[in-house]
Amino acid sequence: MYSFLPIAFFKNEFVPFEEARISIATHALHYGTGAFGGLRGIPDPQNPKQILLFRLDRHCQRLSQSAKFLHYDLPAQKIEETIVTFVKKNQPNKSFYIRPFVYTSDLGIAPRVHNIEKDFFVYGLELGDYLSADGVNCRISSWYRQEDRSFPLRGKISAAYITSSLAKTEAVESGFDEAILMNSQGKVCEASGMNIFLVRNGQLITPGFDQDILEGITRDSIVKIAKDLGIETIERSVDKSELFIADEVFLSGTAAKITPVNRIENYQLPETRPLTEKLKEKLTAITENRDPNYQNWVYAISLD
Ligand code: PMP
Repeated sequence: MYSFLPIAFFKNEFVPFEEARISIATHALHYGTGAFGGLRGIPDPQNPKQILLFRLDRHCQRLSQSAKFLHYDLPAQKIEETIVTFVKKNQPNKSFYIRPFVYTSDLGIAPRVHNIEKDFFVYGLELGDYLSADGVNCRISSWYRQEDRSFPLRGKISAAYITSSLAKTEAVESGFDEAILMNSQGKVCEASGMNIFLVRNGQLITPGFDQDILEGITRDSIVKIAKDLGIETIERSVDKSELFIADEVFLSGTAAKITPVNRIENYQLPETRPLTEKLKEKLTAITENRDPNYQNWVYAISLD
């Protein structure tokens, strides 16, 4: 079903993807003590011998920060160098997704993150659209996002994805495409693997950092792009009922890019969504390195 890139980085060396195997006794498998990143790479539309990675530095910084919750000192620089070599070795020719992962690799029981072996691996797979580019129908999840007092939400920690997984499955099994989770305060938080934005009366709104969201890199990019377009984003708590009467709602994420929302529960959203389309067009141009103002967000890797 998936096309994996042929070479993986595993136990500090580059090996064929099939040879990168872990034991059933791996600590992280049992306790969810892993953290990951996820970034997209595309062949440069202007130069097929070059690969473009969007905001590589920021992704590596976030993973390095997530690793801190595992008591794993993995400098962003080391992650970045590994990813660059990984791309050169794989020579991808289609758009792809890179999954760098840090975890407790020890073969032992008892939950902890101290005095335990850690490892860092990287693999990749070809990836087209993750959600329908035409838009998705969303269910409000009966599962709530974790709260920071009981979970390190500033990290992108594997264990958090049980909630995302349950929410997504609940949505799909009841005929929707995607889930929108509330936070423990009952305010709008995010989707199963995406942040959320809404447009009301020409204003762009997204839940703030105090709303238990993941610090999405696409979210950050959209806020900056909107600002450059003269649109201030209001970062604040968002009520569920605001979603139903919004002029536009979209989800943002590395995999999902900007995905419009067509319907939430039984509320149909307007078919025209000028701001979503404008931001989407701009983000696409930036990731394809067609926008001279954002070239510092695009890391180009020569395959020669
Ligand atoms: N929230 C969650 C729970 C996610 O898994 C993701 C995907 N990483 C996002 C938001 C969006 O983050 P980003 O834009 O950095 O991909």
